[in-house]
Amino acid sequence: MPDPGAPPDAPADLMEKVVGLCKRRGFIFPSAEIYGGFRSTYDYGPLGVNLLRNVKNAWWEAMVQRRDDVVGLDAAILSPPAVWEASGHLSNFTDPLVDCRSCHQRWRADKIDGVCPACGSTEFTQARAFNLMFKTHAGPVEDEGAVAYLRPETAQGMFTNFANVLQTTRKKPPFGIAQVGKSFRNEITPQNFVFRTREFEQMELEYFVPPAEAQHWFEYWLDERYRWYTGLGIPPSELRLRHHDADELAHYAVATADVEFLFPWGWDELEGVANRTDADLMAHARASGERLEYFDQPTGERYVPYVIEPAAGATRAMMAFLLSAYHEDEIGGEPRTVLRLHPRLAPYQIAVLPLSKKETLEPLAREVLASLQVHFMCDYDVTQSIGKRYRRQDEVGTPWCVTVDFDSIADRAVTVRDRDSTDQVRVPIDGLVEELRRRTDRA
Ligand code: ATP
Repeated sequence: MPDPGAPPDAPADLMEKVVGLCKRRGFIFPSAEIYGGFRSTYDYGPLGVNLLRNVKNAWWEAMVQRRDDVVGLDAAILSPPAVWEASGHLSNFTDPLVDCRSCHQRWRADKIDGVCPACGSTEFTQARAFNLMFKTHAGPVEDEGAVAYLRPETAQGMFTNFANVLQTTRKKPPFGIAQVGKSFRNEITPQNFVFRTREFEQMELEYFVPPAEAQHWFEYWLDERYRWYTGLGIPPSELRLRHHDADELAHYAVATADVEFLFPWGWDELEGVANRTDADLMAHARASGERLEYFDQPTGERYVPYVIEPAAGATRAMMAFLLSAYHEDEIGGEPRTVLRLHPRLAPYQIAVLPLSKKETLEPLAREVLASLQVHFMCDYDVTQSIGKRYRRQDEVGTPWCVTVDFDSIADRAVTVRDRDSTDQVRVPIDGLVEELRRRTDRA
């Protein structure tokens, strides 16, 4: 049976295959595995760390580097209760927790459709609000005065630094503050691999706008964010926008829409885009006594901007890119697994493969590697037959293999093999960086 939500040509057990590949090839490992693992916590291995970094870099490039209206921030993860009292998280950041009366497992009431996923029972305790904040103590004394929280979202750092950023950058609405970093939520049921974990990474933009322009910017960011995913290779058939009904909206938002991906279990959230109004800045201004507003000198106008927030998960996006890229096909009658990752995201853009282990090839192969490493993340592999090495690179999504053979010493040219078409062309070593750059830019 194919997975219910999977695209028609996806393998039936896509999720299992991708999870298996992640472990086998060093993308994602269960955390503390030698001690039996730790509650849906994961470590990103040698390939996963590259892929995740590339996802975050692609976001930063689109959201900060290529714009003059957005600046970056990297705020602290530990923060005092005052921040979370003002933001409403201490009282409102809860999920409804129920216990199954039959098998006693705990579930998030809004995610189980009235039936215990473990035993099928429909008998549950009354739902009670469970706060998702991770609480700790700063300093040696574990009393109430030392309480601190791990942030459950990066957003509040942008609001508490609003005045600092305004003063230091002299930006004028519409302008945004972007941040990428870890967030922590004590999820009741972390599940589906890295889709929902207790420790995860977010990529969030808080875009401050004149209130009258809020709807325009909400639609603008929804469109931009959809195009970011398709631009990095997720086909439109696996993406959709879903506008929230009024009863789904968070207390601070007047409009929210999700960018959803077709996960193996069906459509689910990749990213939320919300019109948060002036609720956050007003709440922090009230609680802190600071003025968090924009003063437009030429007109003498003073106002609290509205905020449009595209909030994405970096680790969740990485999982979607992996699921979407996973394919099985045949090359010359041989089955292969290939990750058709966008070259910007692939853990390695290039693999340099000397045709044989013979020492005569090594100096030139290493020379080629060194010239490419300045520009690209490269792998270097001398083990096994060349065919096997191509398959290994296909399986981890390396777009181009550069093979150095015995002719290369005489003609100073190498063979470039394309992952998707498997076409091979001879390219002079002198023009190799330009050729590979052209291919990356075209992708
Ligand atoms: P959900 O309803 O699924 O719990 P949410 O709507 O509360 O998620 P947001 O607060 O909007 O999520 O967070 C923005 C983004 O951060 C989400 O779209 C998702 O990509 C990511 N994210 C949120 N929680 C987690 C988590 N526990 N694990 C991984 N990524 C997460």
